Amino acid sequence: MAGIDGGPRGRIVLFPLPFQGHLSPMLQLADVLHGRGLAITILHTTFNAPDPASHPEFAFVTVPDGLQDAVAAPKDGIGKILSMNAAMEASGCVRDALASILSAEPRPACLVIDTSLPAVQKAASALGLPTIVLHTGSAAVVRLFRSYAMLHEKGYLPAQEHELNRPVKELPPIRVSDLFDPSKYPNQETANKILDIATETTAKSSGIVINTFEALEIPELEALREELSLSGISVFAMGPLHKLSTIGDASSLLEQDHSCIEWLDTQAAGTVLYVSFGSVVPVHRDDFNEVAWGLANSGKPFLWVVRHGLIVGSQDTELPDGFEGAVESRGKVVRWAPQQEVLAHPAVGGFWTHNGWNSTLESICEGVPMLCRPLFGDQLANGRYVEDVWKIGTLLVGKLERGKIEQAIARLMEHEDGTAMRERAKKLKMKAVMCLKNTESTQLAEDMLVDHILSL
Ligand code: UDP
Repeated sequence: MAGIDGGPRGRIVLFPLPFQGHLSPMLQLADVLHGRGLAITILHTTFNAPDPASHPEFAFVTVPDGLQDAVAAPKDGIGKILSMNAAMEASGCVRDALASILSAEPRPACLVIDTSLPAVQKAASALGLPTIVLHTGSAAVVRLFRSYAMLHEKGYLPAQEHELNRPVKELPPIRVSDLFDPSKYPNQETANKILDIATETTAKSSGIVINTFEALEIPELEALREELSLSGISVFAMGPLHKLSTIGDASSLLEQDHSCIEWLDTQAAGTVLYVSFGSVVPVHRDDFNEVAWGLANSGKPFLWVVRHGLIVGSQDTELPDGFEGAVESRGKVVRWAPQQEVLAHPAVGGFWTHNGWNSTLESICEGVPMLCRPLFGDQLANGRYVEDVWKIGTLLVGKLERGKIEQAIARLMEHEDGTAMRERAKKLKMKAVMCLKNTESTQLAEDMLVDHILSL
């Protein structure tokens, strides 16, 4: 869709947070907006930079992020986010890059930023460029993260060991154990700060785009709209973005091993358990070994993503002795998979996931039930929603033990309640398909977002 003179209808700049689970939805959103006739500039850090060759239709501008010094750079994700914000603010590099983009035609209508990039928002604001935030989690999590003052006031946090099962009655079905608890992190101050940042950037924006769809989170979206409309902030439920966009797996930072698709082709329909803990979550060596033996002893076919750096403090991802012999051709291990394609494969009957929001949404869109092992941040709430609200999966809680894993896999893959979860997952998939249809909610959100952008 072009402008009246055949050129773009306008330009938009997008700045993703440089982690896989944030980069992909931002590039997907860029692709959707490009499809609506907007010219796209992606402003990005040098760390985890996207590959321009995979997106020839976009312009790319790199800014230094201060993370080049591998020794001095923080190792953890939260530390990296805060450090790159500080470095970008101090150097003025984003402001300079934006000023240069603003001096060319067509002038950008606005900047879309990840919610964790206040330094970028500050630079835009100094140049009079309005911002919209992309929240790469669910609507439920936007509400949850906005509720931390209340959670402290009402004594849910800091979480007490004997209260982990206590329901947070203001935010059903969340329980205390599902909360990201800053007091559990070595640096509480940074953990608190990361929560404040998301609320702060949203408050300074004209709109928030959420990678979700109406039928999935009806009460959550309603409550959020009510809350944010008081500040004049528009809410766009514009997902699932990976289904709206055409870029497929092109935003992957790691090379995907397609040999697993050929392997899946040899497996019977609905029999394979796909196992992946996303791009950042680390696993302790003991837990890794329990996962390996749980999979081996389950007797079920599985495809397991064992990426570099998966094991805490080690680049070594060696499988336990005797594992390969025990599993033989029933199991396939890859470093990185084409996940969307895997989940859409008819052989896949279940997904053991860490419940990153992209993984959760990708599973929902393919009607695949989940074995949930959330570990951190929003994953905990996502896992709760999978089990209690959508009832399309089961949480694996407590210490990881091979016997427990074996039972959980059997429950998901062959027991009656696994079958019921699978049926509900198929129905939820259909709801996603419906939302994506031409006159349905996601398309309407797209129209509204483009109108909103062009009105800024
Ligand atoms: N992913 C992938 N190949 C893999 C594992 C994951 O392409 O082997 C993709 C997956 O499709 C998802 C993203 O990596 O889009 C992970 O994002 P998510 O929000 O699930 O988790 P995070 O990595 O942020 O913890």
